[in-house]
Amino acid sequence: MTVPGSARRLKDAQKFVREKYDWILVQLEALPKAQPFIEGGDILFRGEHYKLFSPSPRGHPHFDAELKNLIVPAHPDTLPGRTKRFLIREAREALTNCTQVHAGTLGKTVDKISVRDTSSRWGSCVSRKSGTHISYSWRLICAPPYVLDYVCAHECAHLVHPDHSKNFWGLCDELVDTVKPAKAWLRKNGDKLHAVGAEV
Ligand SMILES: [Zn+2]
Repeated sequence: MTVPGSARRLKDAQKFVREKYDWILVQLEALPKAQPFIEGGDILFRGEHYKLFSPSPRGHPHFDAELKNLIVPAHPDTLPGRTKRFLIREAREALTNCTQVHAGTLGKTVDKISVRDTSSRWGSCVSRKSGTHISYSWRLICAPPYVLDYVCAHECAHLVHPDHSKNFWGLCDELVDTVKPAKAWLRKNGDKLHAVGAEV
């Protein structure tokens, strides 16, 4: 039986759509799941899965490392905002501590450390006449501590080498012994950090 040209074209088109549809489904499944800040939500924190709870609207936000709980007292409407502010506070503390340790090892001072919601970079280091300024993404608090520490070491190494030369990487290796695994973790899981706090 011969298939007329237009019918064959239609069949080809259907096949094409089916194949593309499967491809799109695979791509969607490969995207990390959004982790909205909701009661009972699964939140990546310090590289582990925590559950977000808001038992009452009053009190101080804190985390329980043993039970893997993030406790953020809030009204349901304010829970996302309060959770994000709590994570930013935790991030600022951890990033400031690590930065001071590495800068101290190098005998350098950092004049300003900022924590932001940057989408493209985990950290940056700028040296000007007015002083040195290192800025980080707050989302690093959701990564394992050795990854956060590596990013701090990386930015501090830029206080000595403002490039990505061999000497720069050598200095990174002197500051932390996890450069390779930390870089690999960020390459593989960077998207997961961006899924934290995302709406469904
Ligand atoms: Zn760099």
